[in-house]
Amino acid sequence: MKNILAVYNGSFDSLDKIKVSPLSRAYTFSDSVYEVIPFYNSNIIAFDDHIARLEKSCNALSFSTRILDISNEIIELITKSKIQHGYIYYQVSRGIDNLRSHMFDKDLSIETFGYAVEHTFKSQSLKVMLCEDLRWQRCDIKSTSLLGNVMSMNNAKNLGCDEVIMHKDSIITEGGASNIFFANDECVFTPHLSKNILPGITRELLIKDIKKAGIKVLEGIFTIDDLIKAKSIWLTSSTKGLAQVIEIDNQETNIQIDHEIFVQCDRIFKDNYLT
Ligand code: PMP
Repeated sequence: MKNILAVYNGSFDSLDKIKVSPLSRAYTFSDSVYEVIPFYNSNIIAFDDHIARLEKSCNALSFSTRILDISNEIIELITKSKIQHGYIYYQVSRGIDNLRSHMFDKDLSIETFGYAVEHTFKSQSLKVMLCEDLRWQRCDIKSTSLLGNVMSMNNAKNLGCDEVIMHKDSIITEGGASNIFFANDECVFTPHLSKNILPGITRELLIKDIKKAGIKVLEGIFTIDDLIKAKSIWLTSSTKGLAQVIEIDNQETNIQIDHEIFVQCDRIFKDNYLT
């Protein structure tokens, strides 16, 4: 892999040179949160929203975060990397223990780590698998603790699928690394925000922008049956944008590929952020 610019605790270096302690709580407990911040033509997409969500995740875990320093580092990563289209991965951990202990010392200093990589924001069509949502009960925190997602997504990969759509007792939550939308000919639907899903930035931008364009959006509680009846289904994330679901493993659906509402929403998103 070619040189990737990274920053660890404020010092810039290439990714392969960075060394971390095994007593980092990110390593022993996943006691860390993260953001994936996309930029296109060197413009950061929804920077303030990503920073606000990172601060919220840090506050939820009582990290003492220097959010201004972090914002400046992210901007510096993009500028220094000279990448035009890409994303920043940025992680904040509670810090490094003297010895592993669940109960942390409140004087720990946070540990920060980020890097910049190129990314092509090209349209994706996905085959997905439905699965029970195995995760904890605070999925609204963007924690690096992602074992439920990792297990489900790799089961899906082994079945030739690209993503999962998770549900709790048939109530749809979200994708393994994305939020979910679906539509009939009149309206777009998406699960309402709760502790069971991540408040996706792409989700928020899309809802605001398509409403502005006169498309009806309903946030609520939806089941697998609602999904099966939908004419289009798509997943959203900072790196995927809007990715159309073209098949659900083992399910008969009503999906129409390139259904008009999906195409309209995708066009609005691309016109606003990916030009
Ligand atoms: N849900 C989960 C579980 C995710 O991992 C992601 C991507 N990080 C999203 C939703 C989408 O969030 P965003 O649009 O902010 O990338």
